[in-house]
Amino acid sequence: MIFNKSKETMSRDEITQVQLERLQMTLNRVYRNVAFYKTSFDTQGVGAESIRTLEDLGRLPFTTREHLLSAYPYDMFAVPLRDIVRLHSTSGTAGKPVVVGYTKNDLSHWAECTARLLSAAGITDQDVVQIAFHYDLCTGGFGFHQGAERIGASVIPASATAPDKQIMVMRDYKTTALLSTPSFAARLAQELETQHIHPEKLFLKKGLFGAEPWSENLRREIEERLHITALDNYGLTEIMGPGVAGECEEKRGLHVNEDHFIVEIVDPATGAAVSAGETGELVFTTITKEGFPLIRYRSGDMAAFLCDPCPCGRTFCRISRVSGRTDDLIFFGGTKLFPADVEKILLAVEGTAPHFAIDLWSDPDGSEVMEVKVEISEKVFAIDKLRDLESVRDVIRRRIEQVLGVSAKVLLVEPKSLRTDADGAKFRRVTDRRRK
Ligand SMILES: [Zn+2]
Repeated sequence: MIFNKSKETMSRDEITQVQLERLQMTLNRVYRNVAFYKTSFDTQGVGAESIRTLEDLGRLPFTTREHLLSAYPYDMFAVPLRDIVRLHSTSGTAGKPVVVGYTKNDLSHWAECTARLLSAAGITDQDVVQIAFHYDLCTGGFGFHQGAERIGASVIPASATAPDKQIMVMRDYKTTALLSTPSFAARLAQELETQHIHPEKLFLKKGLFGAEPWSENLRREIEERLHITALDNYGLTEIMGPGVAGECEEKRGLHVNEDHFIVEIVDPATGAAVSAGETGELVFTTITKEGFPLIRYRSGDMAAFLCDPCPCGRTFCRISRVSGRTDDLIFFGGTKLFPADVEKILLAVEGTAPHFAIDLWSDPDGSEVMEVKVEISEKVFAIDKLRDLESVRDVIRRRIEQVLGVSAKVLLVEPKSLRTDADGAKFRRVTDRRRK
């Protein structure tokens, strides 16, 4: 079902018109109310009046994470604190977080955006929705909560508590839809197996997973182990939280809520727009936010536009599933590669689990080493023939060399040894300890 048909099926001309009007309003507002934007537009000699088409957006300067960090806590707010009714922040694992504020209208738009995502996933007022994101300064729990209530679903604010408790709630309260990080969903599947509960003993039919990049392989694993349809969604606290983009039941990429956000995809090195279909860095401009509007914010997340029409009828543009972070871009042996490139190779090798990590370091002689740690599947692990393991390792090593043109060490590790923590903490895919 389409939650807001008159918006989500607008023609391209209508979308462009709405975006341009709202963009100009936003530019005027940030110029008046945010010192950072006044200075930055004045320095570049641009402003609302120089933006006549959406293509002109490219003339405006980017906003980066560093800009937001140096505005800590409130310097990027475009309204006085008395108009802010909710505060959230990023996790701020390395130092101070980015603090974001929402007005009443912002919260209402946020609920609308997440309600659209839930509807696109087939969730209705008949569903019992268990939200296993943290309910705290992070945006996951509260963000989805309002959208699920707006749809009229029965909402269980389970938060990200212990897996055994989640399973009890899921079974006893007859949960039909689960919202969490994909790694937490995998953890719950494991808990079911530990407790010898067959997934059919539950009522679960759908899952919406996000807040960290995850692969098609992990999607398959979650779907098979929980007997559900698993859909991806994308959001980031700086822009809103969950609700920026999400998959419909067609699983052909994520529809962006284009009447609230303008998305661009740029080459992370040059900042120029990439060609159609090419992967680059997602850049977002908010066009309805009042409390914390951002112009051309560089997300650091990598994806591509998918341009063919979607059979679901929604006309909002689609982006591919996020394939990694610009920070994960690895320069090694004269080559540029992403963890997603390694993942593609692993997908084709039987006997590997959808979990891997890449370590880089410098040997004492100065040469650089890349090691790919790969989890093997339970099946291969159970057979445990040394020769079989060696052949799996050799296949991976050869494929990396042929496809990526680099030679890497490959280390096979036991099933579940690389998995993320039960609390859904973000998993570190790449560790670079090379001497600079
Ligand atoms: Zn669709």
